[in-house]
Amino acid sequence: MTLTAAGSAVRGGAGFAVHDPATGEVVGTVPDATAQQALAAVDAAVAAGPAWAAAAPRHRSEVLRRAFELLVARTDEVAALITAENGKAAADARAEVAYAAEFLRWYSEEAVRVPGRLSRAPGGGNEVLVRHRPIGVVALVTPWNFPAAMATRKLAPALAAGCTAVLKPAEQTPLTALLLADLLTEAGVPAGAVGVVTTSSPGPVVDAVLHHPAVRMLSFTGSTEVGKVLLRTAADRVLKCAMELGGNAPFLVLDDADVDAALEGAVVAKMRNGGQACTAANRFYVDRRVAGEFTRGLVERMAAVRTGPGSDPATGCGPLVDRASVRKVERLVADAVARGARVLTGGEAPAGPGSFYLPTVLADVPPGAAVLREEVFGPVAPIVVVDGEEEAVAAANDTAHGLVSYVYSKDLARALRVGERLEAGMVAVNRGLVSDPAAPFGGVKESGLGREGSSEGLLEYTETTYLATSW
Ligand code: NAD
Repeated sequence: MTLTAAGSAVRGGAGFAVHDPATGEVVGTVPDATAQQALAAVDAAVAAGPAWAAAAPRHRSEVLRRAFELLVARTDEVAALITAENGKAAADARAEVAYAAEFLRWYSEEAVRVPGRLSRAPGGGNEVLVRHRPIGVVALVTPWNFPAAMATRKLAPALAAGCTAVLKPAEQTPLTALLLADLLTEAGVPAGAVGVVTTSSPGPVVDAVLHHPAVRMLSFTGSTEVGKVLLRTAADRVLKCAMELGGNAPFLVLDDADVDAALEGAVVAKMRNGGQACTAANRFYVDRRVAGEFTRGLVERMAAVRTGPGSDPATGCGPLVDRASVRKVERLVADAVARGARVLTGGEAPAGPGSFYLPTVLADVPPGAAVLREEVFGPVAPIVVVDGEEEAVAAANDTAHGLVSYVYSKDLARALRVGERLEAGMVAVNRGLVSDPAAPFGGVKESGLGREGSSEGLLEYTETTYLATSW
């Protein structure tokens, strides 16, 4: 069994099955790696490490650039695979491939711009020489909701910095990760430098990898709950950790908002991947003066989104990733309704096959509702009417999470002022999308540690060293 670079032979071998969320049918089988096999992948990354770290930055840059071009050229194939194993609508899958490819391009550009610093010590006695060197072998753990982009958002900066890696994709979506590994190999990433470990037992496998003496860092994207477990494990070996965790994004519509623009942004922020994004707008705080107009407009737009298999080009909202996700959304909606919320559209899971839930708008959602406290991860928009900016900001910040917030106001200075008061790593001002490879992506509070994308994303994979010298 090969655990590194994919190949069709691997996909056909014995292992665990991957299901199409739209039909429940099996779309592929991948190896079910044991902890022992994962450690072999780490050993391969260790062996490949010194040569890759010593390669000229320009060489690493050109390999990543080739990977970018290969991924763009294979957009249709990769997007179809993402839809098959994740379920997302074809347009979302193509957008994800473009986004994933941009990390390869961005870090091909950043690979040749790793900064250093030389300065005179304040006392004048010596020089301070600061360098950022590759941290070494890194463990990467990714979620199922963006199977391509969450992988390249880690692999591209790690490789650019001169690190080698073991990637453990989510068990729901391992096929895309294997395809990416093939593509990186074709682009010139040396054997062993990127090992993909597919497993149905993430706990013991990741635990073993994190205890391998050569692993120096963990970069994890997933739920806050699992992130906390892994931070504790990482403490055993004092590993550097970059954590992209869950969100609970508030979407603020102030009294002077352009309501049409807010509606357009709301649908983007809510419905990307059918609501299964860490950046998904989770709670809508709408000023009383525009609440009626906003609510009517959102119901109209959400009701018009067609639910169906992602492979159908007319589909706007694909299935949720599995039945358990549908049950969670059902629980959150039932709780809100029991507390007095009204379902204005949707509010149900259509009969099978597949794990679908209809785009839903809830009004009159009371503050205690679970849907306002938990990440919905589905196409449900709960609306809470607020009186004024102070109430909106207080409600928005009343959460342990702090990944992204959205704010709409026609007065840009006011929107920026409110934006500064929102406890979030990212604030979208009068737009429904923040993700950009050139921007530092990440959260505050329990939404994470560290940043991905931008120049910060590369520095995560380095350690800062300092040499004191006099001449
Ligand atoms: P998850 O935490 O269940 O799983 C994420 C990864 O961790 C998967 O690869 C899984 O196999 C692995 N895992 C699960 N249990 C583990 C354990 N005990 N030990 C080691 N690894 C384990 O999350 P998910 O359901 O795949 O993804 C959804 C979550 O990811 C949401 O909370 C979402 O907000 C978050 N997310 C965050 C970002 C971000 O950038 N902040 C981006 C995408 C998704």
